[in-house]
Amino acid sequence: MTDLTLSLDRSTRLAQAGTRRDPSTGALSMPIYQTASFGHPALGQSTGFDYSRTSNPTRLALEEALAGLDGGCRGFAFASGLAALDAVIRLFAPGDRVVVTEDLYGGTYRLFERIYRPLGIEAVFVDTSDAQAVAAACADPAVRGLLVESPTNPILRVADLRALTAIARERGLLFIVDNTFLTAWLQRPLEQGADLVLYSATKYLAGHNDVVAGAVVAATPALAERVGFLQNAAGAILGPQDSWLVLRGLKTLALRLDRQQSNAQRLAAWLAGHPRVRRVYYPGLDTHPGHALLAREHSGAGGMVAFEVADPSRVPAILAGVRVFIFAESLGGVESLITYPLRQTHADLPTALCQRVGINDRLLRLSVGIEDPDDLIRDLEAVL
Ligand SMILES: *Cc1c(COP(=O)(O)O)cnc(C)c1O
Repeated sequence: MTDLTLSLDRSTRLAQAGTRRDPSTGALSMPIYQTASFGHPALGQSTGFDYSRTSNPTRLALEEALAGLDGGCRGFAFASGLAALDAVIRLFAPGDRVVVTEDLYGGTYRLFERIYRPLGIEAVFVDTSDAQAVAAACADPAVRGLLVESPTNPILRVADLRALTAIARERGLLFIVDNTFLTAWLQRPLEQGADLVLYSATKYLAGHNDVVAGAVVAATPALAERVGFLQNAAGAILGPQDSWLVLRGLKTLALRLDRQQSNAQRLAAWLAGHPRVRRVYYPGLDTHPGHALLAREHSGAGGMVAFEVADPSRVPAILAGVRVFIFAESLGGVESLITYPLRQTHADLPTALCQRVGINDRLLRLSVGIEDPDDLIRDLEAVL
């Protein structure tokens, strides 16, 4: 990256992600290099590209944009968020324990419990919005890593990333943040001391519900080397077409997220005053326990809102009755989605954990899109 690029605001860099990379034609849009292999100029020489599992120009354009956005040293694009996570967990060895956010993405829970626990890498689930609980769990000498989601899904608990960095540094742990919900536009864990940032790029980074993708950004060259080795050796890479889709999505990340956030703030405030709503979870509301921390450390509360309806028997009618919201899993796209975590996104989590964190039969989760906020409010008003 040039000095000019680094001095520009993130929104400028986002808008021009992947541009000026094809001097031979001047193409504004990064070309899709749909090729498996690259010819060599001569023995012992390379154009910089040999084989597309190792590196591909379209994927590299995306990876460099991701690294720049997070302020990391290198980015890596994977076939999905879980493929990215899988590469990161491979940094650990049998016998290692990893302290992990308890109310985390269901697929992350499944990967740890069903694939890595039998292989000897054990997740220890903790409320990572409680730094003291994290410190206590990390006192176990077998703990080698800390993997945190913040804000969490769907209750939106907020972790103090600086405090967790201090714990991780003291214990020599690898500190990994799943930053899927806020993205580097709103929260930059590497600047707060994390070692690796992880994304489901399927969500806000790509932003249009049209591609499944994942990413990792590494803080240091040593870590980048290890992740790069795993990306090439295990091979769960993102293809050139999908890399291009994520790159195109990135260009409007700032605009989309700002709008999603302002829509979410309006909806959360409106829901909080609604007689048929018992409780609202949104860190942008000053009643939320993570509000002050998020306001101090980060640039926003994002576009996810969860709420409890007063009467759980209304849930099927709400999900069937929405006309603007779409009853669907996933999140982060331009269209507003509504889901029922207990039965959909969090069905893999143990019942006791769901009850403890508040994932109950009244809870609905909104991924707020970029539509007109009054249309969204009228839609919910009609079904509530
Ligand atoms: C969706 C999601 C994942 C998994 O990503 P995929 O792209 O679906 O594989 C991981 N973490 C979080 C927080 C997610 O929302």
